[in-house]
Amino acid sequence: SIRPLVAGNWKMNGLKADLAVATEVAKGYAPELKGKVDLAICPPASLLFMASAALIGSRIATGGQDCSAQGSGAFTGEVSAAMLTDAGATYAIVGHSERRTLHGETNAIVKAKAEAAQKELLVPIVCVGETREEREAGKALAIVRRQIRGSVPDGASAATLVVAYEPVWAIGTGLTPTAQDVAEMHAAIRAELGKLLGKAAAAGVRLLYGGSVKPSNAAELMNVANVDGALVGGASLKAEEFLAIAKAC
Ligand code: 13P
Repeated sequence: SIRPLVAGNWKMNGLKADLAVATEVAKGYAPELKGKVDLAICPPASLLFMASAALIGSRIATGGQDCSAQGSGAFTGEVSAAMLTDAGATYAIVGHSERRTLHGETNAIVKAKAEAAQKELLVPIVCVGETREEREAGKALAIVRRQIRGSVPDGASAATLVVAYEPVWAIGTGLTPTAQDVAEMHAAIRAELGKLLGKAAAAGVRLLYGGSVKPSNAAELMNVANVDGALVGGASLKAEEFLAIAKAC
């Protein structure tokens, strides 16, 4: 069976004093938890180097929240995959819905970013998910399948890819899909990955659920078939909540 991953996406939150959250998570990452679930913290880029240093020896990975599709050069404000690796990152979130909607990132751009991450041996966490309008119109599965086809790098495997299903309407709203809807979507994602990567490779890719994951709903969501962990926003800013979610895996 797949070892789950619980990743915290701090989004645009966190000053250096908040690294205490990361060290508190490390303190709570007890041997029995280490034995069953991987953890990652994705702080803002400004804190990545210090977060990685603070987590040395903890077996908690770090990740960026985005990365440029470009290698280097005149791209003011951008952070390259090599810079994330240099700052100690293992993962790079790409194609988060906030990037897709607020920064106009298309499937093609997300795929290029995921490929740039892989080139620097980062594992991209490729995010997909439908809007409320798309779900209400009965288009959720079709939209997410298209995002998978358009955003996932060719030739990816369990070791080089993580996918996160984050319904846009569930992010930061307290709303979550039913276990049945999550099961249906994650099965569809696994099947689509199978067509792209081959069944054997797709079978090992970790499929995270994200969107209003909290200690109170984590057990139900994490027990759904084909859910191999969580991508946690708000609750990842509190060490005890993040750890409680990890324990629910
Ligand atoms: P919330 O957990 O705050 O709903 O955010 C989910 C998310 O967008 C993680 O990437």
